Amino acid sequence: MPPSYLTKTEIAHWPVPAPPPDGDFARPLKTALDGHDLLVPGQTAGVHWAIGCVALEITQRCNLDCTLCYLSDQSEAVQDLPLEEGFRRIDAFHAHYGPGTNVQVTGGDPTLRNLDELARIVARVAAKQMRPALFTNGIRATRPLLKRLKAAGLKDVAFHVDMTQERKGYESETALNALREEYIARADGLELHILFNTTVFDGNFADVPMLAQFFAARADKVHLASFQMQADTGRGVLRARPDIITQQSVMRAISRGAGHRLGFDSPIVGHPDCNRYAGLLSSGGVTTPIFDDVALFAALFAAGAQQRFDRYSIAKSVWAGTKLLLGNLPLAGRALAYFLRKLWTLKWGLLKSGGRLHKLTFYIHNFMDEAHLDKARCETCIFMTMTRDGPISMCVHNAKRDSFILQDIQTGDGTWTPLKQTPSRQALKQLKGRRRAAFLEEKRALPPQHSHARKHHEGDSNIAKSLV
Ligand code: SF4
Repeated sequence: MPPSYLTKTEIAHWPVPAPPPDGDFARPLKTALDGHDLLVPGQTAGVHWAIGCVALEITQRCNLDCTLCYLSDQSEAVQDLPLEEGFRRIDAFHAHYGPGTNVQVTGGDPTLRNLDELARIVARVAAKQMRPALFTNGIRATRPLLKRLKAAGLKDVAFHVDMTQERKGYESETALNALREEYIARADGLELHILFNTTVFDGNFADVPMLAQFFAARADKVHLASFQMQADTGRGVLRARPDIITQQSVMRAISRGAGHRLGFDSPIVGHPDCNRYAGLLSSGGVTTPIFDDVALFAALFAAGAQQRFDRYSIAKSVWAGTKLLLGNLPLAGRALAYFLRKLWTLKWGLLKSGGRLHKLTFYIHNFMDEAHLDKARCETCIFMTMTRDGPISMCVHNAKRDSFILQDIQTGDGTWTPLKQTPSRQALKQLKGRRRAAFLEEKRALPPQHSHARKHHEGDSNIAKSLV
């Protein structure tokens, strides 16, 4: 069936749900998936967990200007969310999704925020038995900061590194591997899970196999490599995704680099047009796909519908699985055969590494264009952004970001207003994305002899003025 896209009116009035009154956190997602015939064997969303993750944007500011940035033209002018409101939002999404929820502490870049406040936000999330992850471009995520946040309860650090960031001194994705290595070293040994985010666009699509190979070779350090496909949304200068980039082509590219045919069919994570998931086991340089027996894993996930699996711990997952299988011997037989097969495949690696086993997850996230929001996908969304009024699908949020980030907020000190008054010269520094490109274009068009006029123009640019 062709997708039914949200109209502008539907986007404007997209509902923010209330928390489930009975504490059945997974029920709303389960019901939504069922309504779209997606509650199929192998589905984990709404069955094993209530939501994929919630993004808590604690600042709208960023120290980069990515060509595919999801932030808005107004973002740089918005003041950081009051701490009190940050705490209130943490409590609010806890009421929606309960303990165990993955929380992206994000922005903008969250490390631009007051660092004491950042640590307190991480601690608040952890105190609610949720799982805080720092989503950062890494520039200010120093080892001392990561240590401090770890002490506050941080579980994961997700580094965004790719060519859309146009970092000076890095001419290719291969060159950026040096930076990825540096970031891995910063977090190594802190007992943090290390994640990497890569935006897939025309400029690096050919590098996806190389990147998958890079991450697979570091499965002892890196836990998750997420590939996000270009989407026409936000303030970035790049817009429509080229035809060559599809879920299928990205899956093939990752498989090529990982050296295995990764099906990305199991487990099912929410809507398959949004999310694709595959796992790799690695030991002593030998790797093998985890979920290649799709029927077995569908049976296991169905049998374990009441079981909570820890997505981040092999040991806990194996223990939960063992308990489950003791009550289902035919399934136990199939699982044992699978286990022995994997053991045999990995034998030399296990011998070489002294039995050390690592898991790497490859994830493909297919964000939608702001003008083409598929209603079914929005209704079954597993990636939420927290707003003043509640959590909302990240794709819907990005399509009308200003209506959220420019909202007044009531605090104990009165009404907090997001936009700060900025002199136009400072507003120029805040120009990012398309508006910056337009401004530079305007400036270049002025003849060189008008240097005085150029200066004047910088101070008075209509674009700069419109920001204040
Ligand atoms: S954020 Fe968008 S692409 Fe991701 S799960 Fe939600 S609707 Fe799908």
